[in-house]
Amino acid sequence: MNQERSYNQTLGGMKTKTINRTKYLNICWMCGKPYESYKYDTYACSPRCAQNILYARKQGFNPPAKMEQLTKEKNVKDVKERFGYV
Ligand SMILES: [Zn+2]
Repeated sequence: MNQERSYNQTLGGMKTKTINRTKYLNICWMCGKPYESYKYDTYACSPRCAQNILYARKQGFNPPAKMEQLTKEKNVKDVKERFGYV
């Protein structure tokens, strides 16, 4: 996905530059919901889920979503189709 980003150059004035951003399809570790993010290293679909994961980890629990199960080929395929990756 291309996005235009404007930035102010100290001497050259305003410049517009087109940047490439890669979207990643992730699965939330908290609720198991698939979501898209510009970061590949995120684990939560929302700040709320991120909080819950953080809390669970502090308590010594692993994230509740069964990641091995959720990321099995057939499940991933369904998710990919839903987001138009296939
Ligand atoms: Zn979530």
